Amino acid sequence: MAIVPDFQSDLTNHFFKGFKISSHFIDDKAKEIHFYLEPCSEFPVCPRCKGKNVVVHEYRKRVVQDDSILGYKTVLFITYRTFKCKFCNKYSTEKIEFLSENSRFTTRVADSVNEDLERAGSIKDTAERTGLSWSSCKRIHKRYLKKKIYFNLGQASHIAIDEFSIKKGHKYATVVVDLDTKRVIWVGKGKTVREVNRFFKLCGTEGCKQIKAVAMDQNAGFATCVNKYCPNAKVVYDLFHMVYNFGRLVISAIRLRLAYENKNKNDDNAYSLLKRSRFLLLTKNSNLSEEKRIKLNDILSFYHDLYAANELKELLPEVFHAHSKEESESLWDEWVRLALQSKVQEITKFAKVQNRRYRDGITNSGIYRIRTSVLEGINNKIKVLKRLAYGFRDLEYFFLRIMNSFRGNSLEC
Ligand SMILES: [Zn+2]
Repeated sequence: MAIVPDFQSDLTNHFFKGFKISSHFIDDKAKEIHFYLEPCSEFPVCPRCKGKNVVVHEYRKRVVQDDSILGYKTVLFITYRTFKCKFCNKYSTEKIEFLSENSRFTTRVADSVNEDLERAGSIKDTAERTGLSWSSCKRIHKRYLKKKIYFNLGQASHIAIDEFSIKKGHKYATVVVDLDTKRVIWVGKGKTVREVNRFFKLCGTEGCKQIKAVAMDQNAGFATCVNKYCPNAKVVYDLFHMVYNFGRLVISAIRLRLAYENKNKNDDNAYSLLKRSRFLLLTKNSNLSEEKRIKLNDILSFYHDLYAANELKELLPEVFHAHSKEESESLWDEWVRLALQSKVQEITKFAKVQNRRYRDGITNSGIYRIRTSVLEGINNKIKVLKRLAYGFRDLEYFFLRIMNSFRGNSLEC
């Protein structure tokens, strides 16, 4: 009974359809397995005239990497044929069905790479597991993502435009998010008005019409884009960026001013305390531990300017939690009144500029309640992806991975 040959042919037919293993070689030192494959003898029909009268024109060889077997890198040395049709005189090449589009790998190893990386794995781990090189894994996954991901505005009507840094302080990218489904619709290079224009052009006239609200950082250029392309959209400045700007332009500015005042008075203790309290002052008070809150209160009771700034920081979210434009307007006007009352230069300047330039966009938050936590969450996850994919080296791939990671919770994507 020929159990072994049957088993062999079943196995090869399953893994290497149309081919058989003629020999193999195991290198224990290099941890590599080599399989030498030859075509099974059937001659194909001519792909052009379907005639059966074909002859072998020549034998060719190809080296292909397969998924590793028990930790051994697996390499296939495939002999395949080209044919000549005696009827129509045309040449054809033997099809190797188990090859991926990039013919240096089998579909099996390509699928396995993609499966790994779809679960947000790191390229390094996948390369180690499959025995493929780092760049091969990336190339396979990039090709897969390019097929899978394409521009689609979908039903998005409430969107946010945000930016993130690719390399600390050097390069930036712009990301557009559907706020209802949390899907990343698009990622563009840079943070320029031209990029945002490019996004709206991709949406087309009808797409732009369906957009009702656009949340963004207070960037006058972006607001102009929205007004130019989207006839039905309102610009909404979101809490996330407002709190961030308030922290940077007001709280940190006051803290540093006070720190240097103390330094000039040679009060080194007060100087270093203020220098070290950045996080303490920028964090939402209710998120601080009991111990940290006591520390904060000590500082606030000592410095009136910081006390005023902290109170206004804590009040700011209320403006964004209003349920109508009118409510938001009255809360905002009250906030500005309190800010001006503080007589602290950094605060009054901030309030005046915001009120003059952005009042409408700020109080639109009463109509469109933008969930800024979405942006915060996406920003944090992008940081993780950046480490996993070494994103800044291949921006196109990095952007595809971002879009792939935030496919949202709507069914159509
Ligand atoms: Zn033919």
